[in-house]
Amino acid sequence: MTPLLEVKDLQKRYPIYGPLGKLFPPKTHMNAVSGMSLQLYEGETYGLVGESGCGKTTTGRAIVGLMKPDGGEIWYQGQDLTKLSDQEFRPLRRDIQMVFQDPLSSLNPRQRIGALLEEPLIIQKLGDAASRRQQVMEILTKVGLAAEHYFRYPHELSGGQVQRLGIARALIIRPRLIVCDEPVSALDVSIQAQILNMLTTLQREMNLSLLFISHDIGVVRYLSHRIGVMYLGTLVEEADTASLFDHPLHPYTRALFSSIPDFSPQKRTVASLQGELPVRTDEFQGCVFHTRCPHATDLCRTTAPTYKTVAEGHKVACHLQG
Ligand code: SF4
Repeated sequence: MTPLLEVKDLQKRYPIYGPLGKLFPPKTHMNAVSGMSLQLYEGETYGLVGESGCGKTTTGRAIVGLMKPDGGEIWYQGQDLTKLSDQEFRPLRRDIQMVFQDPLSSLNPRQRIGALLEEPLIIQKLGDAASRRQQVMEILTKVGLAAEHYFRYPHELSGGQVQRLGIARALIIRPRLIVCDEPVSALDVSIQAQILNMLTTLQREMNLSLLFISHDIGVVRYLSHRIGVMYLGTLVEEADTASLFDHPLHPYTRALFSSIPDFSPQKRTVASLQGELPVRTDEFQGCVFHTRCPHATDLCRTTAPTYKTVAEGHKVACHLQG
C-alpha cells in the first residue's frame, strides 16, 4: 500500500557558536532531528512518542510546512514538500493541518469564534458567506460546541472547549491529514478522555489520517494504530500498538512504559529513566541511547545500531536485537 505521507531521513540542525558568537563559524551543531523516517497511511493514527526535546514537534512542524528542514524528504501525493516554496505549499494547507497544544496562542483574541472558524474558509476561498456560516455551525456541533459559541470570544471558553475550537479550526476545511501536537497534555484527565474520544470519532467519520504527537505513552496507546518511539531526533522502535505493548524491545521503550501503572513489571528492564536527555552534537557517536542505557557496551558507545525489521511491521535500533 502506498503511504499517504512518507518522511525520509529528515534532518534539522541548529548551530552552536563559541564564546565570540557569530563572528566565527559554529563550533558544532545540535542535531534536533537526524535520520528520521516514517510512513503514515490513509485513515491511520500514527502515535509519535518520546520525551520533551526529542524532536517530535520539529518533525510535525516540518510536515505542515512551518519549519524548513536541513535535509531529507517529505513525500505527500507525489510531491516532496521540502522542495516547495511557500506559495507552492499554500494549496496543500487545505489537506494538511495542525492542532496545537495551546490553540489560544495562535488565535486572534479580538475575533469572535464564528469569525475565527470562518477565516480558514475565506483564506482557501471556499463557499459564499451563507455556506461558510452553515459550515461553521456544522463544525461547532461536530466538536461538541454549541451554536451560541458563535458569538463568543475564545477567552470565554474552558480549556477543553478551547481545544475543541482548535480542532474545529483545523477540520473546517476538511483536511486529509492532521498533525496533533500534544493536544491534550494541558488538560485534566477527564477532559483528555473526552477530547481523545472525539478525535477517534471524527477520524472515522471524516476518514482522517492523524499524526498524534505526545510525551504520554498512555495517551498514544489509546488512539494509535501504530506507534513510533522517538529518542534524540530519530526513531528507535516502531510497531503496531498491540505488538509494541506485548513485545517492547528497545530499552528506551521499556523505560517509557514504566510510567504506565498497569504495565507488566516483567517487561520493564529499566525501572525509570535516569539522567538528562543529552545534546546530539556532530561529535556524538554510537547508539543515541547509550548515555542512559543500563545495557550499554563499548560497541554501543562507538557504533550506532542499524534500524532493522525484527518482525512484521516491527522495527528497532538496538545491538541487542536481531
Ligand atoms: Fe542500549 Fe546498546 Fe541497545 Fe543502545 S544499542 S539501546 S545502548 S543496548
